[in-house]
Amino acid sequence: MITVTKTFLPPQEEYNKILKRAWDAGWVTNRGILVQELEQKLKTYLNVPQVLATTNGTLSLQIAIKALGLKGEIITTPFSYVATTSTIIWEGCKPVFVDIHPEYLTIDETKIEAAITPDTTAILATHIFGNPCEVEEIERIAKKHNLKVIYDAAHAFGVKYKGESIFNYGDISACSFHATKLFHTGEGGALFTRDKSLMEKLFYTHDFGHNGQEGFSGVGINAKMSEPQAAMGLTVLPYMEKILKDREQVISTYRNEIRNLQFLKIRPETDWNFSYFPVIFPSEADLLNAIKILKKEDIVPRRYFYPSLDTLPYIKRSADSISMDISSRILCLPLFTDFPDQDLKKVISIMNSL
Ligand SMILES: *Cc1c(COP(=O)(O)O)cnc(C)c1O
Repeated sequence: MITVTKTFLPPQEEYNKILKRAWDAGWVTNRGILVQELEQKLKTYLNVPQVLATTNGTLSLQIAIKALGLKGEIITTPFSYVATTSTIIWEGCKPVFVDIHPEYLTIDETKIEAAITPDTTAILATHIFGNPCEVEEIERIAKKHNLKVIYDAAHAFGVKYKGESIFNYGDISACSFHATKLFHTGEGGALFTRDKSLMEKLFYTHDFGHNGQEGFSGVGINAKMSEPQAAMGLTVLPYMEKILKDREQVISTYRNEIRNLQFLKIRPETDWNFSYFPVIFPSEADLLNAIKILKKEDIVPRRYFYPSLDTLPYIKRSADSISMDISSRILCLPLFTDFPDQDLKKVISIMNSL
């Protein structure tokens, strides 16, 4: 079976060797040596001033919303994974959808201002497939209307925009280190902000509000990364160069050889991370036909991202959107490290035979 992604697993002995350090320390969570080492290494690798390792991307988003004290309406994208919308609702806020750009697939910044009301407190947008939002224009709008900006940067590990880590834009960025993501710790995630006092707040919030053993600084939750998670991250991190090179190769073959389908347009001045390879079919019928044929050949792509989040059962359905249209026609093709050449050829020949 060829699946849309395959978790990169480093040699198990290397993982065991790092994990042994947690055994020797007798310490498996509560910010042990491995979590702290992972944070240091990520700071250097990503070139960011601060990072907080967490237990997943979803709680990272919730903590970001909580720490900024957001209430009321949050402007967001309908084209993303469900967690982008569900975390807004979970935190008692109301998602207000602004449609996406038809080629970049990120929130359409030119439509944001029209959606702002007196109840708007923030913009929560996704760097979808690692493709950056128009971060400078979003920053301008946010400043003008006194809004906070959170980026769902779950797909954006290692992405740079104008030479700068994408995690350095906005008030807070939340990344996911889930096993299906580019860099992973099994389950895991991280929070990024350049603001020192905001990072302090994120830190307390992810650890029950603990400020020392007996003091508390606000209401918190438990979103700490554990040592086995950090050990996975420390084992995977040295392989990033290989992971990126392999994926770049696969994507360049897809791009050169697949005919007649729309590809994701990457924003100029982006150092992209080759995190996904979506193709957009002329119609949903074409997409469903492609899935049927691929499945017959034991190839399992994924409808990333379907459904469009402005059609979720707990959302009041809005007018037709570009996001609904794109969601119905987009498919992510298999992409992972050590993707066998004959499998790649097989996927491409099927796509060209449709
Ligand atoms: C994976 C993902 C999340 C959730 O991250 P987890 O680590 O799985 O909780 C949030 N947003 C987007 C866009 C994602 O793809």
